[in-house]
Amino acid sequence: MSADQYHNANVPLWFSGSDNMHRVARTIAQRGPISRIQLTHMLGLSQGALSRITADLLHEGVIEEVNTFTPGILDEGKENDGSEHRGRPQTGLQLRTDQVSFIGINIHSKEIIMEHINVLCQPYAPSYSEPLESFEPHALTKQIARMIPQCTAPHTPPLVAIGISVGGHHTHDRYVQYAPFLRWNSSVDLGGMVSDATGLPCAIFNDIDSLLLKEGWFGSATGLHSYAVLTIGAGVGYSLAVDGKAVNYPDKSFGLVGHIPLDFTGPRCSIGHVGCSSILTSDSIAAEYSAEVGHAVSYEQFERDARAFVPAAVRLAARTAHRLGTLIAIVANIAMPQKIIISGEGSGIAAMNIEEVRTGITQYRHSQAQAVDFEILQFTWSDWAQAAGARAIARYIG
Ligand SMILES: [Zn+2]
Repeated sequence: MSADQYHNANVPLWFSGSDNMHRVARTIAQRGPISRIQLTHMLGLSQGALSRITADLLHEGVIEEVNTFTPGILDEGKENDGSEHRGRPQTGLQLRTDQVSFIGINIHSKEIIMEHINVLCQPYAPSYSEPLESFEPHALTKQIARMIPQCTAPHTPPLVAIGISVGGHHTHDRYVQYAPFLRWNSSVDLGGMVSDATGLPCAIFNDIDSLLLKEGWFGSATGLHSYAVLTIGAGVGYSLAVDGKAVNYPDKSFGLVGHIPLDFTGPRCSIGHVGCSSILTSDSIAAEYSAEVGHAVSYEQFERDARAFVPAAVRLAARTAHRLGTLIAIVANIAMPQKIIISGEGSGIAAMNIEEVRTGITQYRHSQAQAVDFEILQFTWSDWAQAAGARAIARYIG
């Protein structure tokens, strides 16, 4: 089949306008409700230029005005009249959430999970998931198309785009070149196929980069200049944002942090390293635990044992958290981000052992260096589905 058989794959722009108009809309998406004054300071625009741009965005139905109050600032020289609003009323600008909606989808080794979200990445309803029926691209496409009506909430603004995240390497936000969990090793036009099957524009994104963007636009890294996302689970994932944007590097989706030396007392990985970062993966942890207890145990059983305070599991969970701390310290020392965000199926074990994570970090930091700012997110696959939707939203806003 020709590469251009499908022609609906690119996410369209919400509006056409100058670079500054898109920059203002992006900032309102990330920081809204936000006042015009704050926008002029943040973006270095004149008040006149900004007011022309916001008038255009209001006219296009992209943004709306809302009243906000700056808490605690009383009008000087005025008696407090005891009214509820103790702050100075201000007009804030925010995106209109009644115009368009999106579907975010994450595909991993076991299931397809999707969420119907508004333009601020807020879900309309709980996520919808099904076990992955087939790794074959056409069957997978059919399953996705069948699931979308199940996931779409009634009485919501029209769907304008689908974002799908898959671990692996993708090109042009459309072609999957390599997806180990799907056993795909050559180019698949997944964006084109899904868009053809659903009649909606569909873009394909890397899962870790999607999480990175979601945290920067709608999550705990909003407004930060530089931050990183580290994930542990089936693999070890990493992505870095500088100047609020993902750092591009052609080989970054090939799991470049999967074999970083972490613990010379750790087990050997599949390619012969001793104690490399693959010891943070679920398979390696399950193997290490199995060796310790003397019979085959799954990762899920290890996690249950750790939560039930089985001593061998508690010790391995603490060791794992310490090793993750070492990896966090390496990222902090070399990439120097303002914040490191941790996610993935394995992150729950780290959250249970936060002091061990801190010890692992401290061991590789100068005693006078400031504490590394890190956050372990409460992991859910629906969060990863929303992240794919966030990428589609970012493309739509431009
Ligand atoms: Zn290795």
